[in-house]
Amino acid sequence: MFKSNYLSNLFQEVKERYVTQPEFLQAVEEFFDAMDPIVNEDPNIEKHAIMERLIEPERIVKFRVTWFDDNGKINVNRGYRVQFNSAIGPYKGGIRFHPSVNESILKFLGFEQTFKNSLTGLPMGGGKGGADFDPRGKSDNEIMRFCQNFMQELYRHIGPDTDVPAGDIGVGFREIGYMYGMYRKIRNENTGVLTGKGLTYGGSLVRKEATGYGLLYFVEEMLAKYREETIEGKKVIISGAGKVAMHAALKARELGATVVAMSDINGYVYHKNGLDISLIAKLTENNPEFTTQYKDYHSGAEYGKSPKDVWTKPCDIALPCATQNELPIESAKALVKNGCYLVCEGANMPTTLEATHYLQEKDILFGPGKAANAGGVAVSGLEMTQNAMHTPWTYEELDKKLKDTMKSIFEKSYEAAEKYADPRNLVVGANVAGFMRVYDAMVAQGVI
Ligand code: GLU
Repeated sequence: MFKSNYLSNLFQEVKERYVTQPEFLQAVEEFFDAMDPIVNEDPNIEKHAIMERLIEPERIVKFRVTWFDDNGKINVNRGYRVQFNSAIGPYKGGIRFHPSVNESILKFLGFEQTFKNSLTGLPMGGGKGGADFDPRGKSDNEIMRFCQNFMQELYRHIGPDTDVPAGDIGVGFREIGYMYGMYRKIRNENTGVLTGKGLTYGGSLVRKEATGYGLLYFVEEMLAKYREETIEGKKVIISGAGKVAMHAALKARELGATVVAMSDINGYVYHKNGLDISLIAKLTENNPEFTTQYKDYHSGAEYGKSPKDVWTKPCDIALPCATQNELPIESAKALVKNGCYLVCEGANMPTTLEATHYLQEKDILFGPGKAANAGGVAVSGLEMTQNAMHTPWTYEELDKKLKDTMKSIFEKSYEAAEKYADPRNLVVGANVAGFMRVYDAMVAQGVI
């Protein structure tokens, strides 16, 4: 399967051990695939058992979350924090509230986060957490009680120099606020242990825009390097209707692109001349479900019930910004057939491995999430810095730092791609560039 026997044997073992963790295995397989060229060249990787150590989280905390709903009924959910790798800094990564959350999903996310955070150049290790709680349809009070109970356990395991959580799917400003409030009450300290906080209590400007804007800055780098073009005038499809997708759409429009299709969990909307992004931004302000309403406001816009069909529309650029495995092989084929030449991941692992291979075979430019969506966690890192300095930076400073970071991530990934694969293979490039720093730090710190 891999050229390296070391990787092949190890992957076989991992597959047997984690049969019930398909998402985690997928992330490891993609990573091993990308590592193949360097593992053969560098015997120290095997000698130091780097891969064995890297794929095993340093710690997984699993706990019960008990909360009252509005009818006075007691509910129980499972909460987690996966502290994956702290070789280069405190664990850092989001918290996801979604019914699908389990150990496999959080391990894949924590694993990816380790390399993503390394790529930002900031001192942040990888972690991820969450609960199988479904925030859909819950009242504000229920959300507050859930967040408070979640933090009543999580607080023991985190800290500004230990583990710094943030948001992810289902966790935004509101949830971070409720969790932060409870943390402060228990710990009696104001050190900014979570990022993605509100602006009135230690949050950072540009954090809410960071992942979406950063994605577009990364796309601009790709277009400039590989095609000597800008995004102006290009037709773009964006999946998802959360913070990442919305800010990607706003930045795409600002840079002169036309967003022709977007989706949410109820379907997609498409208009060949472009969607009304201001209207979508308004509709999604309080609820990220907009497609069913949108079609009534925009005559001529097409609505379809299946979110995946968003990929069947013609475009130049496709930006999956919803969730893992939302872009399978059939969708990749449809994109290629309809003229798409660049796919860049705003979500974590939205493209299946099979689809990624297919796109690469067809010579489609492909920006992997761990590089392209690193803008969010990069600005989270800057939020930590501002909290530690007790001084906020301005919007302009932060936007510039974000842009510079995305440029540097692209350059590092491009250089590694050129050295170890071919210049267009950013999957190899991003994985290798992210890995090198963690590898070096692990060796330097001995066998622990
Ligand atoms: N959840 C985001 C990610 O996947 C952000 C994490 C953070 O800001 O710590 O990178």
